[in-house]
Parts: sequence; C-alpha cells; structure tokens
Amino acid sequence: MKKNDIIPLSITAMSSEGSGIGRYEGLAVFVPQTAIGDELKVKILKVKSNCAFGKIEDILSYGEGRCEPDCEVFSKCGGCVYRHISYDEEQKIKTQRVADAVKRIGGIDMPPEEIVSDKKIKGYRNKAQYPVAQNGSVGFFANHSHRIIPSDTCALQPDEFSRIAQIFSYWMYTSGNPPYIEETGRGLVRHLYIRKAMVTGEIMVCLVINGDKVVAAQRLIDDLKAELGDSLKAVVLNINKKKTNVILSNECVNLYGDGYIYDYLCGVKIRISPLSFYQVNRDMAERLYEKAKEYAKPKGKTVIDLYCGAGTIGLSMAKEAKKIIGVEIIPEAIEDAKLSAEKNGIDNAEFICGDAAEAAKTLAVRNIKPDVVIVDPPRKGCSEELLNTISKDFCPETLVYVSCDPATLARDLKILDNLGYKLKEYTPFDLFPRTAHVETVALLKREA
Ligand code: SAH
Repeated sequence: MKKNDIIPLSITAMSSEGSGIGRYEGLAVFVPQTAIGDELKVKILKVKSNCAFGKIEDILSYGEGRCEPDCEVFSKCGGCVYRHISYDEEQKIKTQRVADAVKRIGGIDMPPEEIVSDKKIKGYRNKAQYPVAQNGSVGFFANHSHRIIPSDTCALQPDEFSRIAQIFSYWMYTSGNPPYIEETGRGLVRHLYIRKAMVTGEIMVCLVINGDKVVAAQRLIDDLKAELGDSLKAVVLNINKKKTNVILSNECVNLYGDGYIYDYLCGVKIRISPLSFYQVNRDMAERLYEKAKEYAKPKGKTVIDLYCGAGTIGLSMAKEAKKIIGVEIIPEAIEDAKLSAEKNGIDNAEFICGDAAEAAKTLAVRNIKPDVVIVDPPRKGCSEELLNTISKDFCPETLVYVSCDPATLARDLKILDNLGYKLKEYTPFDLFPRTAHVETVALLKREA
C-alpha cells in the first residue's frame, strides 16, 4: 500500500479520535467521517509502519448507524466528529471505547454502567473560543490544523454566540484593530472567547490580544450591550503576547463589569472568572457531579477534591460533608472557589492553590486522613507520585475518579489496583455529544 492508492475498505471499528478503522493487508487504515459497516473506496493519504490514513473516495454502501449531517461546515471543521452517525450509535461507540480501555489498558474485566446523557446534542456548550481570521471574521480550526474555517455559527453553541461573533467581526472590520497573524506573530486580536452561565444567562466576552489595548473598545461594549442588555456582565481583555498555541495568558484587564459571571450548579452559586475551568456542558456536569456524590457518599465525611477547578465538585457536597479540601493549580480558580464557598454560606471548605501531587504530600504531612478522595485530572491523568500518596498516606476508604480520557483512566486504574484500590463500578457520561470526547466516573474502594 502506498500514497494515492485507491483501496476497498470495510469499516469495522472507531478510533478514540472518532475516525473509522478498517484493515487492509494487515494494516489498520484510519478514515475520518465514516461509520461502522461502511463499505468504501478509500484514497490513501499517508502510510506509516503500523497504520495508514485515508479519505473517502467513494461510498459503496452505508453502515447502519449513518445519518445526514446537520451542520454545513461538518466536513471541514475540527470540532464534531460524529454528526454523520445517529446519536444512539455514537453512545454505543463511546461506551465501547471506555469499556475497551478499562479491559485492554486497565486489565480489568468489568462492563460499564449505561452511558448517561440528556440527549441534548445541540446548543449545550457554554463556552466558545473563536480564532480571528486575517480578514477579521471568526471561525473554527480545521481538523489537526490551524487553518481557520470561517463560520460564526456552531450547532453546539447557544444562539447568542453567533450574534456576538457577528458584532465582533463588524467591529473588527470597522475599528482598525488588526487581526493577529499566527505565522508571523504580528497583529493584535487573536481570539474571541465567550462564556455564558446557562442558568442565570450571564455572558462574558473576552478578547485575547497580542498587545496592551484595543482602539474603539467602548463602541464594541455599546454594541454588545445593545444586543445582550443586562445579560452582558463582563468584557475582558486577555493579554497574550507569547508566540504560542495556548489561547489564554494569565493576565486579564476588565473593560466592563468586574470580570466575573455567576452560574448555578447542584444548587450552589458558582463564580466563574475567565481563567477558571468550568465544565462546558453545565446540565450534564450536574448529572456527573450527582453520580460522583452517589459514589462518594460524603455525609459526615472528610473529602479531598483534587484538581477542583472552581471548586464545583466539592462545593456540591459541602452541605452534607464534614469537611471539604479542594486543590487546584490555577490561582484564579481557587479565588472563585473561595468566594463561592463564602457566598453560599459554606464554612467547612478549604481551598489550596498548588500542584495536586505536591499539595497532597503537604496535606499528608498535616496528617489529614480523608474518608473520600476525588480526583478529576486533565487528560494526562494522575502522576504515579500522587496515586502513591493517595493510597499510602491518605488511605481513604473511597476513591472517586472523574476522567476525561478513558486511556489514562485505565492506566491509572491498573496502578491503583496494584496499590489495593479495586474498581467497583464505572459510568460513562456524554458531556460532549457529537465530539470524540467522553467522560467517566469510577468508584474504587480500598481492599479490606
Ligand atoms: N473538578 C473541576 C475541574 C476539572 S478540570 C470541575 O469539574 O470543574 C481539571 C483541573 O485540573 C483544571 O482546573 C486544571 O487547571 C487543573 N490542573 C491541571 N494540572 C494540575 C495540577 N498539576 N495540579 C492541580 N490542578 C491541576
């Protein structure tokens, strides 16, 4: 097999990134936007020693799970990967992905609970980060690329976001603020970043700039206010002068409002600042936290919530728990967590800013003996050092692992199994319908 070959291919599985996989001459061939059961003619784009990549040349027959994509830019945009298959099929694929990881990587033979979803596959996102194109319009990055696909609407986002994007683009055309050009590092306006608190309706608009100020800021604020009224609570500049892929720097300047919006999650009012992590699918995050609570049984217990972001998981349990200790590396998120605790009259929560592994050691030195530890790490999962501290120093009876990557979850489950923490149950959650992502909540118990 070589580049430009046209081969016949049957799609038999899906990759973790949402590409279909078929086998040809013993090699796995990855083809995006295909479905299990597809019979295809595929054009080979790249051959590596252990796999190949191709694109659809012709569809000979359709797999059962296929449906008509409901988005105009689906074939180009790098956001969704499953708009061409039914949502039922997508949930099966995601469940299978989690189950496979736990079995193959984790070495644990246990089926997952049924995947939890509210089946809302449109308009669920509360956050958008649009790159600014060279003509001042906004769009989305193409798959595996920084090429901008112009589009101000996205099926995953609320309607206001496209109106904000249009107001912003018009302001870019007419205000004389130059767009940032990634290749040269020149120009000013890099990203338009929007957040909406879905329960209160409050909106934050943030411009990420390669400089210290923009001209005609007041006109943008006035236009946004005219469109959004009192919902507009914050307009913020994020100063990012680095030549980097990382969207946000840690420096924010308020142009309008005090820089925050507030949302409700599990009955707790949560302050959200531009730099704090906040789950993009609020309604499903609530379901996920309810499951975490069901697993944790926090009543009367001391709970450590590692990688706590704005404190949301711990705060959702604070009323029942004896004590909550949250740990998070982003200072602004910790400030949000502390303020939210105070505003909600929660006085049994402590929040520590620092690396989870290091803070855990410090807590162990303080001789804190939690009954429950919750971890919710980023995709790379937990360090072995942290898992050691949890199992050897904290020795909680219950460990709840919230994961956004089945592969690293499974890797950590294996390590934890050897450290005496046994998987009891795990539930996949679809917080990101139509994209390749899937969350999992796992319950582990210390071996007697
Ligand atoms: N539990 C929160 C946040 C989960 S996202 C929620 O449900 O909203 C993961 C969080 O881990 C992010 O807030 C990120 O800033 C934080 N983080 C990343 N690396 C970290 C580290 N080494 N130590 C502590 N927190 C870290």
